[in-house]
Amino acid sequence: MNIILLGPPGAGKGTQAHILVEKRGMTQLSTGDMLREAKDSGTEMGNRVAEVMARGDLVTDEIVIGLIRERIGGPNGGGFIFDGFPRTLAQADALGDLLAETGQSLDAVVEMRVDDDALVSRITARSTCGGCGEVYNDVTRPWPADGKCARCGSTEVKRRADDNEESLRQRLMEYYKKTSPLIGYYHAKGKLRPVDGLGEIDEVARAIDAALG
Ligand code: AMP
Repeated sequence: MNIILLGPPGAGKGTQAHILVEKRGMTQLSTGDMLREAKDSGTEMGNRVAEVMARGDLVTDEIVIGLIRERIGGPNGGGFIFDGFPRTLAQADALGDLLAETGQSLDAVVEMRVDDDALVSRITARSTCGGCGEVYNDVTRPWPADGKCARCGSTEVKRRADDNEESLRQRLMEYYKKTSPLIGYYHAKGKLRPVDGLGEIDEVARAIDAALG
């Protein structure tokens, strides 16, 4: 099964992708993670996108489609979870083409619905594990008391450079302008599965399970 997790920044896409990886053995493809890796390892592309990401703007379709193209023919045990991709209509068309070229198809688009107030408080409280990318929240899911990540045991706490109010405002604007049209696009294709993303992590996970059948 190949699925897209669609939703604004802070909707919980990464958290739910990790749960699907653990429970269903799916393969997460997060363009945000790939871009941050490129930035951290100082590749030429990474240096080019660093400022764009820090501002909260979208990087070019060409770059992110290239990242997905490199991986889409690779191992996909349990199916792919596209997390944070596609974010524009051009990316959605490209994904359709890439899946068709590799003899695959898209099964469902899970739209995670969360209101803006919740997004701001989630994002400003967010940290991730430097070892495995597990997502924590200062209020709702603090780091384990021993300081070790519950998933991989790493002690490296990371806060994203773009998890601040100014950048978040821009990321939300980009979402509403460029990404939200995908809701209609996938609805028209009969793929859209809206899920309430506001509840507890386990509740949302159950709603996603139910939506995927
Ligand atoms: P994320 O981790 O999904 O919130 O992505 C972090 C940042 O990476 C975004 O604010 C964009 O600057 C960039 N990015 C990630 N995925 C995409 C995409 N599919 N298209 C364009 N930019 C992206």
